Amino acid sequence: DVPLTISGLTKRYAGSTDAYAVRDLSFRVEKGQVLGLLGPNGAGKTTTLRMLMGLIAPDDGEVRVFGHAIRPGAPVLSRVGAFVEGAGFLPHLSGRENLELYWRATGRPAADTHLDEALEIAGLGGALARAVRTYSQGMRQRLAIAQAMLGLPDLLILDEPTNGLDPPQIREMRDVMIRYAAGGRTVIVSSHLLSEVEQSCTHLVVMDRGRLVQAGPVAEITGSG
Ligand code: ADP
Ligand code: ADP
Repeated sequence: DVPLTISGLTKRYAGSTDAYAVRDLSFRVEKGQVLGLLGPNGAGKTTTLRMLMGLIAPDDGEVRVFGHAIRPGAPVLSRVGAFVEGAGFLPHLSGRENLELYWRATGRPAADTHLDEALEIAGLGGALARAVRTYSQGMRQRLAIAQAMLGLPDLLILDEPTNGLDPPQIREMRDVMIRYAAGGRTVIVSSHLLSEVEQSCTHLVVMDRGRLVQAGPVAEITGSG
């Protein structure tokens, strides 16, 4: 099963007189890859990720995740986990309690050993027992990513996970992604900075104004191979 195949994906927002947000986008992501979706603000990264999570409908084209066609309203596959900005946590509860609450809300068994594994990969350590209101921005971000990793989904989608983080936190985030994919899983991460994706990603898809500009192994694109 190929984790992700996108073909001819096209989106133009209703009422928008602008150009297309995403236009005729096609690429695929293989198992074990960490794919960086790279492009400046407005390139169409978030729109692309929202279509592949089934949050918005494309005007044209198709998304297949592990062979299943994705469409809005259809249940999200349990093999997919996603991080999007602004995940809300209950500030008076601990990080662990927040994740347990979320996990139960998705209707899965309370005691799942995967919870501990996700927490370990996210590297929150001793902070997990503390109330979320005491967390730094970087810790909240990692908690949101741990939440996306609950159940260890085969495909993890991260929309600009390093937004608002400082350089040491960005390096930690890079390690989190590498550790995650090392288990034979697949990661898709968006960024507007090459410096952030060139060391954590195996492959890149470069977008600009809704279109694919370049795609391939990182070394090929950066010319460092
Ligand atoms: P990126 O994530 O790369 O910054 P986006 O997918 O957010 O790019 O945006 C792509 C284009 O679509 C931009 O021109 C943006 O202004 C426009 N856009 C994004 N969301 C909406 C929306 N909800 N309504 C109208 N236009 C939008
Ligand atoms: P991102 O770059 O991550 O897509 P933005 O700050 O561009 O984030 O967008 C934040 C929110 O505003 C999103 O919900 C997006 O859909 C919406 N948005 C972005 N551009 C437009 C636009 N031109 N018209 C309407 N809504 C927009």
